[in-house]
Amino acid sequence: MHLRLTDEQKMVQQTIRKFVEKELIPLENDVLRNEREGKPSLSKEKEEELVLKAKNAGFWGINTPEEYGGADLGQMMQAIVAMEVSKTFVPFQFGGSADNILYYGNEEQKNEYLIPTINGEKKSCFAMTEPGAGSDTQNIKMTAIKDGSEWVLNGEKTFITGGNEADFVMVIAITDKELHQKTKGREGVTCFIADRDMGWESEYIYTMGEWGPASLFFENVRIPEKNILGELHKGYNLGLEWIGFARWIVGARAVGTAERLLQMAIDYSKERETFGKPISERQAIQWQIADSAVEVEAARWLVLNAAFTLDQGEDNRHLASIAKLYGANMGTRVVDRVMQIHGGMGYTRELPIERWYREARLWRIYDGTDEIQRLIISRNLLKGHVKLGQYV
Ligand SMILES: Cc1cc2nc3c(=O)[nH]c(=O)nc-3n(C[C@H](O)[C@H](O)[C@H](O)COP(=O)(O)OP(=O)(O)OC[C@H]3O[C@@H](n4cnc5c(N)ncnc54)[C@H](O)[C@@H]3O)c2cc1C
Repeated sequence: MHLRLTDEQKMVQQTIRKFVEKELIPLENDVLRNEREGKPSLSKEKEEELVLKAKNAGFWGINTPEEYGGADLGQMMQAIVAMEVSKTFVPFQFGGSADNILYYGNEEQKNEYLIPTINGEKKSCFAMTEPGAGSDTQNIKMTAIKDGSEWVLNGEKTFITGGNEADFVMVIAITDKELHQKTKGREGVTCFIADRDMGWESEYIYTMGEWGPASLFFENVRIPEKNILGELHKGYNLGLEWIGFARWIVGARAVGTAERLLQMAIDYSKERETFGKPISERQAIQWQIADSAVEVEAARWLVLNAAFTLDQGEDNRHLASIAKLYGANMGTRVVDRVMQIHGGMGYTRELPIERWYREARLWRIYDGTDEIQRLIISRNLLKGHVKLGQYV
């Protein structure tokens, strides 16, 4: 057992850290100003400039297989990169990647969707949630009815990340009502790749955060048979796989953000004096710093364990739920303490803390709520799918 990053992992971590410090953090004030003025966080030119710099630094397609031009660094590296990039709220992602389930496409689908997505020529989104079916994904109502060589989709999806910008959506719909009922939603649904120009429409949803997902509307949208992703009637598992990947990454993001925020609180507490002494000399502040540090470390190891387990080719779903549940809650607790340590300044828009406060709240809701993670973790233990201490 070796609980340290390898030299290669450390090197990538340090290089990404430098990129974030040198290229992204200096843009934070611009991003705050743009967002407050209702403009895009980053201008198109700035985004293109960053993409070029990231490509030149070799950070493109970190987790993309080498045959598609990526670096294929594995899940641990994915976690480490997510932690580093989340130290800033500047909305930049090292691109060159595609949704995990797009790799299940056939050759034609890979050429038409996977490769252009990796190359940044097309944007994707994934749609499972509906107005009447969020946590209970088995309760979806969107239908797909076969008509000749096409499927006709009707229904509404909601809260779809990237749904306003996407060129195509991987959308889950019921293709066999009887089978769907008989299997309690596990079969009888299919994942379709639907281009926007096949006729679906989107509408922006305003949220507490600085970005919003979309509602997607399908009214007699005709999708050719060849656009079925994976197997007919077996789309539910693809959906779970998409959600499952995003799950532990939420924990990784929470670690990066909490670490940056905690550093801000440490620095501020040493500068801010009350009653003749820096507040860092007060036990009330020290304990908030200590509790936050303990929780950040705990979350880091939970995330790394989930990533490591996946890299070993093992099923990491139990650990992913644990990392997501703990990481998301840790993140919201830390941002709250950091705001408290900053007093009135923490509540102002002079500092980015309130922005992170609003953003962090989402972590406990999407990709499976706190309650759903608890349900999964307890069910695994109560039914004996997982034994305590199994993953050491
Ligand atoms: C910003 C944002 C982006 C999103 N992006 C996507 C996306 O890209 N694609 C996509 O398909 N979906 C997406 N979602 C949807 C997200 O996954 C759902 O919102 C989430 O799963 C919760 O579903 P719900 O909102 O319908 O809440 P509900 O399922 O209605 O839950 C309401 C409350 O009841 C609790 N609850 C529900 N069932 C149980 C139970 N059995 N036991 C105890 N408590 C329970 C929940 O935890 C929650 O507190 C996104 C959501 C948001 C807010």
